[in-house]
Amino acid sequence: MAGEFDFIHWIQRQQQADGNVILPAGDDMAVLRWSSADLLLVAVDQVIDGVHFDSAIHSPRQIGRKVMNRNLSDCAAMACLPAGAVACVALPRGCGHEYAQALYLGMREAGDAFDCAIVGGDTGSWPGKLVASVTIFGRSAGIEPIKRSGARAGDWIYVTGALGGSILGRHMDFVPRIALARALAQAHRLTAMIDISDGLSRDLAHICRASGVGADLQSDRIPIHDDAWTLAVKDGRPALQHALHDGEDHELCFTSPDAITMPGIVRIGQTTAQREIRLDGQSLPAAAWEHTL
Ligand SMILES: [Mg+2]
Repeated sequence: MAGEFDFIHWIQRQQQADGNVILPAGDDMAVLRWSSADLLLVAVDQVIDGVHFDSAIHSPRQIGRKVMNRNLSDCAAMACLPAGAVACVALPRGCGHEYAQALYLGMREAGDAFDCAIVGGDTGSWPGKLVASVTIFGRSAGIEPIKRSGARAGDWIYVTGALGGSILGRHMDFVPRIALARALAQAHRLTAMIDISDGLSRDLAHICRASGVGADLQSDRIPIHDDAWTLAVKDGRPALQHALHDGEDHELCFTSPDAITMPGIVRIGQTTAQREIRLDGQSLPAAAWEHTL
């Protein structure tokens, strides 16, 4: 891309100091205000052209939104509040200013929805495809981070929304469940939580492995998204299989000893002392997640 410094200067002009951002992008490092009561949570997530999006189909704005939202969804999984993010982007040579700006604005738009400023980053162009990476900082803000390892046998297992078929478009555009996660964590005893990025079967397996428990799921309780039914018609795989195994729903899966009734929250089963995941009493192998665009 011609004039990378122009792009960097353009980004710097988008910055402003506000709230907890004492010094935004522009110096060698940004400076954030940090309450001594807060734990700092950190995560990084990248998206790669041809793996997580297709630059021939998806706009740079959509791509920017996705990479930021994936990170925000990790904040939801831990029930923390996003406090800021830094972005690192490898641009395809010759993609142009407008493309790079739209990518940034997509990230910015997604971050702004949660008061999460982009406070720094790095950019370069190369002969390869687009790769965009975001590192996010979260603050605990009064809620102990929810880990994957706290589930106990007998806890209820919940999800926050309908699953499956995200490849039809939702994987590019989803709402991180931060507000819901924090409301749940304030009102109930959440023992383990994860955001569903690899598919319910795999992500629940992460909780089970970390917690040393198993799970009994009931197929008639799994919420199946309309997209899963649409995809089932197209590819002949049952909609339930899509709901169980498709990736990138970015709903939350969590466990709690509490009987929770909240709009949108669905109880799908219960954790067990036997270390396997069963569906209607049958062992459920986690299908290998393959993201095909
Ligand atoms: Mg995650």
